[in-house]
Amino acid sequence: MSESTPSAKLDFIREIIAADLASGKHATTITRFPPEPNGYLHIGHAKSICLNFGIAGENAATGARCHLRFDDTNPEKEETEYVESIKADVRWLGFDWGDGLYFASNYFQFFYDCAVHLIKNGLAYVDHDSAEEMRIKRGNLTTPGTRSAGAEHTVEENLDLFARMRAGEFKEGECVLRARIDMSSSNMNLRDPVLYRIMHAHHHNTGDAWCIYPMYDYAHPLEDALEHITHSLCTLEFENHRPLYDWVIENCPVASKPRQIEFARLNLTYTVMSKRKLLQLVQEGHVSGWNDPRLPTISGIRRRGYPAEAIRHFSKRIGITKFNGTTDVALLEFEVREVLNATAPRRMAVLDPLKVVLENVAPGTHEVTEVPNHPQQPELGVREIAMTREIWIEREDFMEDPPKKFYRLGPGRCVRLRGGPIIRCTGFGKNDAGEVTLIHAEMIPGTTGADTPEGIECRAAIHWVDAANGIEAEVRLYDRLFTVEDPDGAEGGFLSVINPDSLKSIRAWVEPSLAGVGPEFSCQFERIGYFVSDLADHQPGIRPVFNRTVALRDSWAKKGS
Ligand code: ATP
Ligand code: MG
Repeated sequence: MSESTPSAKLDFIREIIAADLASGKHATTITRFPPEPNGYLHIGHAKSICLNFGIAGENAATGARCHLRFDDTNPEKEETEYVESIKADVRWLGFDWGDGLYFASNYFQFFYDCAVHLIKNGLAYVDHDSAEEMRIKRGNLTTPGTRSAGAEHTVEENLDLFARMRAGEFKEGECVLRARIDMSSSNMNLRDPVLYRIMHAHHHNTGDAWCIYPMYDYAHPLEDALEHITHSLCTLEFENHRPLYDWVIENCPVASKPRQIEFARLNLTYTVMSKRKLLQLVQEGHVSGWNDPRLPTISGIRRRGYPAEAIRHFSKRIGITKFNGTTDVALLEFEVREVLNATAPRRMAVLDPLKVVLENVAPGTHEVTEVPNHPQQPELGVREIAMTREIWIEREDFMEDPPKKFYRLGPGRCVRLRGGPIIRCTGFGKNDAGEVTLIHAEMIPGTTGADTPEGIECRAAIHWVDAANGIEAEVRLYDRLFTVEDPDGAEGGFLSVINPDSLKSIRAWVEPSLAGVGPEFSCQFERIGYFVSDLADHQPGIRPVFNRTVALRDSWAKKGS
């Protein structure tokens, strides 16, 4: 990534790393992004990805790297589908793990050997207590825990029992391997935590080779140490686990000493981020899939048309702190608009069409004009727009009886067609229900690409699409998936506050230059918002489908105030 970093103050993690490099504690820094392949990545993960890969990029001169490590130690919840989606998402965000792709499941033998090492040093024992008994004996914040009978085993007994656990002699839940640390520690995580449990389950990588699987708190520090991770960055809920992390590193035969540092996770308004809840939304059909454009998943955001660059800017803007808070999703949308405003070519589309007949344009006559694709970026080129006798304009751009300040079309009034001539409304037709169905107008000759002539009052330009050449398209108007800021806190549960209007699919007219674009073409529909051709359903020339990425302005800000 060669994006300029405003040389503002470093966050506390970057400060620590800079100090470690300056003092010579480390010659370089190695970070890692360690997803568990049990779901799709979301915008919260993007914060972690931008942090870890960002740090590696910024310190590339020292040989810094960031590993992509699949933390696939739990056989039950993981699927290869997730591994592939995670890789695609990290790449799409603009990051590259080079040859640093790792799977924690490749370390199973090492985890096992370390456990044997702990047993030999009297630091781990096999315990037959049930989960319930363990819970009771663990005590609480005011009462110290008591050790179970398992703690009395000799080293030889423990070695034998652990070997038999591994050989499959016990049923699930029959026994576990526990660390012998401190049953009266004020940190409950140190009260002889479980290191290994029995699971007679098939693993996506190791198949049926193992029937005992390590716990996260035991495996994670070992994974970091094996990969020579210098700074292991995780979210705040692991702060209380750090003493255990350090205990494992201290007591296992590892060559390097990673340091765990915690930062606040990202929470966003109007969304849920827990994998369990996202899975529920997908499985129960509240959304169309993991990449539904309303989800905060990376694949959903991408399909929605959010540029990866905007996600990186957003990550930078929210920064890294130790304080848990909730970020307004409007900030993310702001970054999306910023990027798209600068980069997205302009196009015209009419979402709520009203036909205008230009009575003084002969049938078949084409008035062709060239218009720039972007008001400030000439390098985005120009395109030709053709006009015939009939065009579509937006229904709201005509008023039968307009107030003074309405500068668009009304009886007898003039308006400019963007990139085209000025027209004057000469009349209109209505249906039986009293709705305006047709506008009669005349084109004012010589006004295309020219100043407004003397004697003509024209103070606005509206967008339009030619009726003969325009193409009909499906336009999907996406809005927030939830109606309240904090769906997790909703009394009736997050499903009770799903926004029933989060997707409106309409038929619209788009300009002919959009006929040939492939999927994932981002543009601004002038005066409306940013749109992208749908990644999954858009078929050029056959079935054009455009998603609204974000409206030009924030309509929610108005509603809220
Ligand atoms: P689960 O605990 O259900 O597995 P998870 O969100 O922690 O969910 P992981 O795959 O373990 O999923 O996460 C990978 C990395 O992303 C971790 O280092 C985690 O700390 C980080 N991460 C996850 N959610 C967020 C978030 N909301 N903000 C910042 N970082 C996050
Ligand atoms: Mg996790």
